[in-house]
Amino acid sequence: MYSFKELKNQIEITETTVECPVKNCDTKVERQKKEFKRDERFLCIKHSIYISPSTYEYVNYQDNLLWKDYDDIQLLESILKSKRESRISRERSEDALTWNVFRYLDKKNELVEWCSGFVKKRVSYTNIIYWSYCKNTNGTYPLLKEARAEFGEANSRGSEPDLIIETDKALFFIESKLMASNKTNPSNPNVTKKYLTGGSEWFSKVFKSPYSEIICNSKYELMRFWLLGTWMASKTKKEFFLVNLVPIFMEEEIEANFGKHIIQNEQRKFYRLTWENMFSYIDLKYRTDDEKLLSDYLLNKTIGYNSNGKLSRALFNQSFTDKKIVIPDTSTPEEEEELGRLVKELLKK
Ligand SMILES: [Zn+2]
Repeated sequence: MYSFKELKNQIEITETTVECPVKNCDTKVERQKKEFKRDERFLCIKHSIYISPSTYEYVNYQDNLLWKDYDDIQLLESILKSKRESRISRERSEDALTWNVFRYLDKKNELVEWCSGFVKKRVSYTNIIYWSYCKNTNGTYPLLKEARAEFGEANSRGSEPDLIIETDKALFFIESKLMASNKTNPSNPNVTKKYLTGGSEWFSKVFKSPYSEIICNSKYELMRFWLLGTWMASKTKKEFFLVNLVPIFMEEEIEANFGKHIIQNEQRKFYRLTWENMFSYIDLKYRTDDEKLLSDYLLNKTIGYNSNGKLSRALFNQSFTDKKIVIPDTSTPEEEEELGRLVKELLKK
């Protein structure tokens, strides 16, 4: 996997060519335009990536992953078989980011602690569902399937949160964002499926705003997650948390902007959480080799090149530097610990 440390800070882009972004590579490929294509013309054979002027994609999706033991890949292959759309081999993939962070917590049995922090009570177990795939039933998570039917969604095209975490006390929906915003609209705003009538008019119990107003505010996706998630949690008599996981300088007002439409109480809450916050959660712990690997990944993850051919970090990026927090190019554990502390401070504000 290539990170900020292995990539050129600046690449040369001409009308017809673009150079390989990996340091010390002099390969130049044909410049691709519009939609990204995996085509031999755009391939650097040495580094096994397809290149465009703004980003790159791995030939083998596993090169984008931190966790790829036999069990990891077995699970991921099953998930990908049923996942509707996968761009997990791309540099800018939010799915790869989600996998790399949450598969870590899952493998290390740290989800219990992470979830307990939200519930403010000790949860006794967690079952994580990646992109609707439930490993216990080898298919769509049954409760989600039920919710989709209740609200008139076709199972093959129904709502799909990035992650669902089931615990004994609460149900979590986690929607991750990296480049994309929460702005989503239905393809046809006049088709409401059974969103208003399903679950004995469940909509009226969990929303303050009328459907049309939420759609007008382009909160279609979050609306569906809140509707289905609160219904699923209530059916199993659990608390519900909808967590929107974003880079620190994105969607800063989302808690207010979406929060104004929904009825929250002790049993159901909407939270905005940041990837930088996940970094400080992981980084400030024990410093095992895997923790080091993951915190280094988050710190140096990139989102490609801007129109001037300059490389950007995905997190801890330019706007971070504007707040006078300097990210070292190659960081020592002490520097990272200091950074983790700064992130925590920034998040308190
Ligand atoms: Zn190369």
